[in-house]
Amino acid sequence: MLLQSLREQVLEANLELVRRGLVLYTFGNVSGVSHKDRLVAIKPSGVPYETMAPEDIVITDLDGRVVEGDLRPSSDLPTHVELYKHFPSIGGIAHTHSEFATAWAQACKPIPCFGTTHADYFHGPVPVTPQLTPQEIATDYEKNTGLAICRKFEGMSADDVPAALVAGHAPFCWGPTPAAAAHHAVILEAVARMAYYTINLSEHAATLPGALQDKHFLRKHGKGAYYGQGQTK
Ligand SMILES: [Zn+2]
Repeated sequence: MLLQSLREQVLEANLELVRRGLVLYTFGNVSGVSHKDRLVAIKPSGVPYETMAPEDIVITDLDGRVVEGDLRPSSDLPTHVELYKHFPSIGGIAHTHSEFATAWAQACKPIPCFGTTHADYFHGPVPVTPQLTPQEIATDYEKNTGLAICRKFEGMSADDVPAALVAGHAPFCWGPTPAAAAHHAVILEAVARMAYYTINLSEHAATLPGALQDKHFLRKHGKGAYYGQGQTK
């Protein structure tokens, strides 16, 4: 079986979304990529999480063609593939319809950085894409969803902000591994919830000062990182 380790990582990251209460029924999907092999491992479409096994994970190429697996890949595969092609530092992608992050996506509002919890993981607001056009929806909808995220990140680093909201849809999160992508999906939901409460308590709440945003992000990420025990992800 191809990419046994990546299959297991992808399965585990999918199950993490369930454990953290981020998905309902068969919603959500996590994938991982081997840039070296130019292959993607992704959750199969519509298979219950309870019975999912490593051999159910579908292996495709970067054109979205199934290379190994009897099941159909997640219907969001073309979105994942566009992100992998565009962002070579990404090793995993997690997509959920988690409630608070999705509420921001439905409101078509970026999530402002109100506090250090946000700044620890996202260096700046979590952006939201424009609504897709009727043409983009009619043809290659999932691929166009990925392209909309890529366009939104022009001039931005996907490593600095490992998530995007798709307008009217939901978040896509990523990271160097499938586990990191799922972790970011969990953190994004917490940050989205806190931002929602902040705005409800204070409609004109100020965002975190830039110096504090930089401090919190850069002490965990980047060259001078010193947070934790030196095992940066
Ligand atoms: Zn979705």
